[in-house]
Amino acid sequence: MTFQQIFNAAPNVEASAPGRVNLLGEHTDYNDGFVLPTAIPQTTIVQLGFSPNHQHHFYSHELEELVSLTTTDPIPQGFASYSLGCLRVVEQAGYSIPPLNVYVNSSVPIGSGLSSSAALEVALLRGLRSLLSLDLDDIHIAQLAQQAEIEYAGVQCGIMDQMASSLADTQHMLFLDTRSLDRELLPFPAGAEVLVIDSGIPRTLAGSGYNQRRAECEEASKQLGVKALRDITDLMQIETLSELLKKRARHVITENDRVLEAKQEITAVRFGELMNASHASLRDDYQVSIAGIDQLVSILQATPDVFGARITGGGFGGACVALVTQGKAGTIAQTVLETYRKAGYTGRLLVPEIPTTPRGNYAT
Ligand code: ADP
Ligand code: MG
Repeated sequence: MTFQQIFNAAPNVEASAPGRVNLLGEHTDYNDGFVLPTAIPQTTIVQLGFSPNHQHHFYSHELEELVSLTTTDPIPQGFASYSLGCLRVVEQAGYSIPPLNVYVNSSVPIGSGLSSSAALEVALLRGLRSLLSLDLDDIHIAQLAQQAEIEYAGVQCGIMDQMASSLADTQHMLFLDTRSLDRELLPFPAGAEVLVIDSGIPRTLAGSGYNQRRAECEEASKQLGVKALRDITDLMQIETLSELLKKRARHVITENDRVLEAKQEITAVRFGELMNASHASLRDDYQVSIAGIDQLVSILQATPDVFGARITGGGFGGACVALVTQGKAGTIAQTVLETYRKAGYTGRLLVPEIPTTPRGNYAT
């Protein structure tokens, strides 16, 4: 169904924003640390028009769901919470928003760790900026998107996803200091490209595990007397912690170091070694990997032309990212998926995007 078919009118504006994959710097953003994501080719498109009545209407092409809400209705569950949240945070920033028709169409896989939520928020906020001529820069858009996700969708996320969706592109890595928001678009290591494979394992424990890790990091910071684990740079400083908190802190400290090294112009081989080390740290110290993911990462790491591979996203399932020889991602994916399937799993290639039949017609 198109905007025209749903709302019986043409949209006034259209905006889009990409999903992202994080190359290095996992579980560091809520520790005020460093991250290194890149945008993926898949994007979310939002079309906006003015609602003829006193309600906002939100339609998702992927969910085939239409939600209608008055401007004062309580926060809904699910997809409309992200959308209404974006409108509300813009209002909280001092702008007034008339009742709107909102149409969402996305090629970003939902819930696979490629940040469909941030892509939705950033695309919608960009659409609002253009429809209502709002004076918002790209950083402010990312901050509002994060605020919407925390306050309205109830997800205690860091700022990485929204900054990546708002500022990154597919041709660069975005180095981001999540404390100062200092950032830099950097070239990929020479001769390399990004491969992302979905493990096919749903992130069932993701919510509870994520919150628990956050709480452990906060407890470690408190015991060490610092604002965030970002402020600890020497492993000697964490000796006083319990064995469990020491592991968590060690991951964050070493992961920050890996991002800072990767931000220098290093070779693809060295970058791959850092990704492999990141996976080991996430598996052994942060304990957010699971057997199927470890298997997929091992297969990737043992495949020729793969520089390095690791779990990406919050953990407990989801996708794996690898850095591979430029031009080889497609064939590597085929070999890897075949071996992975023989081990009893069902994975799928996410990046590079496979040209498929045209996705839903969102044109007017
Ligand atoms: P991820 O961001 O890794 O894809 P999340 O759980 O953070 O996973 O966000 C997924 C949620 O974002 C979905 O459950 C849905 O509520 C919302 N969402 C994202 N993209 C869309 C879309 N195209 N249509 C409707 N809802 C979407
Ligand atoms: Mg998300």
